[in-house]
Amino acid sequence: MPEGKIIKALAGFYYVLTDEKKVIQCRGRGVFRKNKISPLVGDEVVFQADNDQEGYILEIRERKNELVRPPIANVDQAILIFSSVEPDFSTGLLDRFLVLIEFNRIRPIICISKMDLTSEDQRKAIEAYAAQYEKAGYQVLLTSSVTEDGIQQLLPLLEGEISVFAGQSGVGKSSLLNVLKPDLELETNDISTHLGRGRHTTRHVELIEIGDGLVADTPGFSSLEFTEIEVEDLNYCFPEIEEASHRCKFRGCLHVQEPKCAVKQAVDNGEIPDYRYEHYKLFLQEIKDRKPRY
Ligand code: GDP
Ligand code: ZN
Repeated sequence: MPEGKIIKALAGFYYVLTDEKKVIQCRGRGVFRKNKISPLVGDEVVFQADNDQEGYILEIRERKNELVRPPIANVDQAILIFSSVEPDFSTGLLDRFLVLIEFNRIRPIICISKMDLTSEDQRKAIEAYAAQYEKAGYQVLLTSSVTEDGIQQLLPLLEGEISVFAGQSGVGKSSLLNVLKPDLELETNDISTHLGRGRHTTRHVELIEIGDGLVADTPGFSSLEFTEIEVEDLNYCFPEIEEASHRCKFRGCLHVQEPKCAVKQAVDNGEIPDYRYEHYKLFLQEIKDRKPRY
């Protein structure tokens, strides 16, 4: 039986992209309804083709993950866009996005945009941050949609993956997508949420082919609250803290009050930047203060 990926769902039809790059318009058939899961964009499916245009989905392969907003399965990576200026780069907000992405077991790629607008001092400051995030284990790209700097590094990273863009409104997500795929012609402007039209409504999401990759046309991670995250999880959402935590004296060390904490040592001797640790503690407190959900 042929297999493919759902790239669009609309009015009861699922559009399945095959390895041969054909799109087959499929309906669902009863089989998977028994398990009470309905197909999502991003799903790997087995289908039966009636002809080279139409068919039926028979089976949904097990999902690696599932985002709620936008509703999309099997996301491999998030291209996290942060502008260097306009609005100014903020490690607090960046770390918040990183935690939410890590928690969903999605690989983040940090993309610092609008580099053409930076002064020399600002560029140096951004480069210093980039080096620190790289040391923590992240891939960081410095881009400009005007000069197209960094675009050639970004394109190959999309290959073979399902990516979502993330980042505040106005940081340049639509502009970047337009450079990556000029025929897309997404509208851009300062106040719009485009690529974000769907932010507060349930617009359908679609995966668009960029090079040899698939990218969601709606940004992810628009809610920045830690509603699902527990205190023990936070350690795993900061790769360099997680790494140091193996050397803490106490198992389950939360790196705040505990003695012989390797994370605090790493902060003291400068291996982990202060602001990363401060954000860790801030988020930990936020999770502790959260009202119970039930
Ligand atoms: P989005 O809300 O994240 O999709 O952001 P947009 O792509 O709509 O961009 C917001 C504003 O920033 C627009 O006025 C863009 O023209 C501008 N902009 C986006 N990227 C760049 C860039 O790399 N350089 C410069 N100079 N302006 C940019
Ligand atoms: Zn510790």
